[in-house]
Amino acid sequence: MDFSSKQVFDVVVAGGGVAGLALAACLKQALGAGADILIADPRLGDIEGRERASAIAPGSRRLLTEVGVWETIASRAQPIHEMAITDGGVWDGARPVHLSFHERADEPLAHMAMNDDVVAALRDRCLALGVGCVKAGVGGFVINRYTIDAKIADASARARLLVGADGARSKLRALADIATVGWDYPQSAIVATIGHQRDHRGRAEQHFLPAGPFAILPLPGRRSSIVWNESKADAAALLSLDKADFRRELEARFTLKLGEIEAVSDPIALPLVYRVARRFVAERLALVGDAAHVVHPLAGQGLNLALRDVAALAEHIVERVRLGLDPGDAGNLAAYERARRFDVAASSLGMDLMNRLFSNDIGALRATRDFGLRLVDRAPALKRLLIEEAAGARGVAPRLLLGQAL
Ligand SMILES: Cc1cc2nc3c(=O)[nH]c(=O)nc-3n(C[C@H](O)[C@H](O)[C@H](O)COP(=O)(O)OP(=O)(O)OC[C@H]3O[C@@H](n4cnc5c(N)ncnc54)[C@H](O)[C@@H]3O)c2cc1C
Repeated sequence: MDFSSKQVFDVVVAGGGVAGLALAACLKQALGAGADILIADPRLGDIEGRERASAIAPGSRRLLTEVGVWETIASRAQPIHEMAITDGGVWDGARPVHLSFHERADEPLAHMAMNDDVVAALRDRCLALGVGCVKAGVGGFVINRYTIDAKIADASARARLLVGADGARSKLRALADIATVGWDYPQSAIVATIGHQRDHRGRAEQHFLPAGPFAILPLPGRRSSIVWNESKADAAALLSLDKADFRRELEARFTLKLGEIEAVSDPIALPLVYRVARRFVAERLALVGDAAHVVHPLAGQGLNLALRDVAALAEHIVERVRLGLDPGDAGNLAAYERARRFDVAASSLGMDLMNRLFSNDIGALRATRDFGLRLVDRAPALKRLLIEEAAGARGVAPRLLLGQAL
């Protein structure tokens, strides 16, 4: 790999997951031939193949539409028309719905899409737009006065700004000496795709069970994705069961509302952590996505938070580059951090609080929280507010989340 020693990229992005690819595509689309953007990832273009699905909130969908990939993703995505929230025991005969959300006439609550589909569509878009793509990792960097050199394999790419989109175990974050705050949850999330007899009609369900939330998220056809939280030990024990026993445990939680369970993909258990970087920026470096924050998957917001970072950072970079200014200068990076800090803290701590409040079986606490859920259910204005908050486009949202071009 050889980068001309005279070439200075506007931005080098380390990491070709959803966050890195979306940022590179947004920048190149807005700035065109006037900008040199490079993306580097040792697994660039590889398919994860883990059947991981994510809920794409309306703000994220608008960003993906603006960047020209939504049509491709939508053809294989499932709209969520309705969401029901229950609170009860695994073996309760009935699980009354305490809170429900319904789509408004103009848009579904969210769409379920496979991560691999989102990554593939964004990667193709980056290639079509002319983003430089390198299948190798960023192993380090050297900061110069006006630029930063990213070490990629045995070469070096010079840029005005390096973006760490290299996931939860971000090497760039560590190299920049940015500490994280957070903790490991005593829970793991069992993730699998279920085939069932009846149509889900686009209804998602979140069952707050004593061990943690059990989410049923509709996929195209008669299939649903489940995110099943259990204590780490129980999750490991469940995965070691033979297929028939595992299915029995699953049925108790999934219930037979959608008829018999017809197929179950190989389940995986993912350890759950809460991690937020103390800073989202360092000299000539910005972090986005899981490199900056990893949140509980309870409300399906990790990828959406990542795309909110992307929308904010892209807007800050594009404004600077169009004025002929340096996108990596300290003032611009501080503005990006200010734009994201509050949203990340509020969303991630909100999810943590919900998880703590609901992952237990204390009678009095359950009665109080159920009363709270029912109160919210009877307050249409508050429900609308919650839907808008989850959509990621309230208040002074970045333009891409509102469906406006940069
Ligand atoms: C069980 C579960 C369910 C979830 N469900 C949802 C949901 O419904 N909705 C939602 O919004 N979110 C969900 N999430 C969260 C979401 O999947 C993540 O937040 C999102 O994928 C993060 O994207 P990313 O691009 O930041 O990181 P990643 O997808 O981890 O991508 C990082 C990339 O960086 C590359 N890389 C690593 N090191 C280097 C290096 N040194 N140089 C260059 N590249 C490097 C890796 O190869 C990788 O491709 C869920 C997560 C879990 C665990």
